[in-house]
Amino acid sequence: MATTRFAPSPTGYLHIGGLRTALYSYLWARKTGGEFKLRIEDTDTQRNNEEAMKAIIEAFDWVGLNYDGIVEYQSKRLDIYKKYIQELLDSGKAYYCYMSREELDALRETQIANKETPRYDGRYRDFTGTPPEGVDPVIRIKAPKEGMINFEDGVKGSMSFKSTEVDDFVIARSNGMPTYNFVVAIDDALMEITDVIRGDDHLTNTPKQIVIYNALGFKIPKFNHVPMINNPQGKKLSKRDGAMDVMEYKRLGYLPEALLNFLVRLGWSNKDQEIFSMEEMLALFDPSNINKSASAYNEDKLKWLNSHYIKNVSNERLAKELEFFDCFLSGHDKKEMILDLCKERAQTLVELKSAIDNILEVPTSYEAKGVNKFVKEDTCAMLEEYIALLEVNKSSLHLACDFEEITKPFIETKQLKFPQLFQPIRIALTGGTQAPSVYDIISILGCDEAIKRLNKAIVSGFVQ
Ligand code: GLU
Repeated sequence: MATTRFAPSPTGYLHIGGLRTALYSYLWARKTGGEFKLRIEDTDTQRNNEEAMKAIIEAFDWVGLNYDGIVEYQSKRLDIYKKYIQELLDSGKAYYCYMSREELDALRETQIANKETPRYDGRYRDFTGTPPEGVDPVIRIKAPKEGMINFEDGVKGSMSFKSTEVDDFVIARSNGMPTYNFVVAIDDALMEITDVIRGDDHLTNTPKQIVIYNALGFKIPKFNHVPMINNPQGKKLSKRDGAMDVMEYKRLGYLPEALLNFLVRLGWSNKDQEIFSMEEMLALFDPSNINKSASAYNEDKLKWLNSHYIKNVSNERLAKELEFFDCFLSGHDKKEMILDLCKERAQTLVELKSAIDNILEVPTSYEAKGVNKFVKEDTCAMLEEYIALLEVNKSSLHLACDFEEITKPFIETKQLKFPQLFQPIRIALTGGTQAPSVYDIISILGCDEAIKRLNKAIVSGFVQ
């Protein structure tokens, strides 16, 4: 039973890298029957945490991730951190350090000049003298001076850091504020997190956090450091590549199941399976299968997955999703037909809406290129005859096949080529040549509306 957490620093919105670690943490907790907790790491920031929190909850709601219990805010836990700092001071595992800024800078410069890695030299570690005046001390942890700090990473395998790489780092600043690695360790321990799943940009923080766990006798969780998401060129993902607000994916017309499916595969795999329902993710996900190397963001794959889900969710669901894009089909008696027809080619809900509008809205212009190519001298006369045919048979024309039945003999008798008839009709009905089958469109619009649009095009001479 794993207890996991998502611990964002409030940056104002949730981006896909964050959502991916949240998803992995969520899946692992739910799969094992444990808990998934949410903690806002807001000790270091002046930003508006309420806004950031709202953005995260909004994104979680949209994709359907839910967390357990209350949201913990680090900014509200300062008393807890202070208590543990005091405990470490009392037990001699932490100490006041009175080095001034100037002294620290001087030490740093000397070390760099000696080609050493800059690090605190421990000069106040065992200090018993009288502290210098006028310096507000920081508090440092006594890190081990020799040996190794080892841990078994669920993704990366055995990790070993020399203790000398971890100096006596600051756990409380001179103003009393605890530092990042200190509070993360305290919170993960107190929140009883058993499995930490986070980006591998935090890998070098882990030995420091382990020093805190050991100093306080806390049980060390299992760490899983997930490699980054890169752009297709192998560079850091930028906003332009897709590192944007998760809610932007909603605005671009992605279904949440497509985004989650995309993210679960972006860094994790189960054989060569590409499509995963939430049930399958829950059944199959295991952090030990997280890829060891960075993954590449691939927009085509996301679109491919989205078109898969657009085709496979119910029409009722699609109609509901389309309302966000001001496309209201619920009252339309041909709703099923419209969606069946348009969803076949749509990669996003935005494209789906546009395909639907293309049929349902009276064209306000006719595509000149199509008109030039397909509207000839005798086209209008041919269309008038076709209208007459529709008029005569109107009462028995409902389904696409009804239109096909009367149109085929018309084409044969007049010895027409299909585009000669169908392209001008498409242009008259939708304004352009890129539209689904004419029979389907007429059947959706109904005979009267189709005749109206054909007449309008004829009267205007296909110019508007
Ligand atoms: N607050 C950190 C971040 O947003 C995450 C820390 C962690 O998961 O341990 O990158």
